[in-house]
Amino acid sequence: MKSLLLSSEELEALLPDGRDSVPPPLAQVDEDWCIGCVRCIKACPVDAIVGAPRQMHVVLKGECIGCEHCVSACPVDCIEMLPRGGSQVPVVDGARQRYRARKQRLRREQEARRARRGRVERDTSSVAARQAAVAAALDRVRGRRQSRLGLFPGDSDS
Ligand code: SF4
Ligand code: SF4
Repeated sequence: MKSLLLSSEELEALLPDGRDSVPPPLAQVDEDWCIGCVRCIKACPVDAIVGAPRQMHVVLKGECIGCEHCVSACPVDCIEMLPRGGSQVPVVDGARQRYRARKQRLRREQEARRARRGRVERDTSSVAARQAAVAAALDRVRGRRQSRLGLFPGDSDS
């Protein structure tokens, strides 16, 4: 699968050129084969695909820039690039906006994941610290008992 975060230069290279006589092709999902794996959503640089896990995914005709990134991401080969015909040609500025919004969303998700990982690590280390404190306390108790037993050997039967 292509990178989730394209650079803006890479996006510019994908955007349709207004001078092209033929509009860019349009991705279309074959609903009979889609397994709802969401890989196409992750690969689309302009969030032009909607769907949820284990549900059929749909391409937003007015947003698809025809980059074909979703085609190689699909594990069951159910996305086809078709001539656009009368469908709406994507607005380049809209595609740039969607790209920026997606980039911000991915960053927010990444930060949330990092924060969650940090919390788990902190929780784990505080559990480890508590376990170490309990083990140290038990060691101290054992040490005291043994030294008492050393001082009063007759107590060892009790
Ligand atoms: S062709 Fe590109 S823009 Fe269109 S849906 Fe696929 S990944 Fe998105
Ligand atoms: S990658 Fe293919 S199978 Fe997976 S959700 Fe997208 S269209 Fe469906």
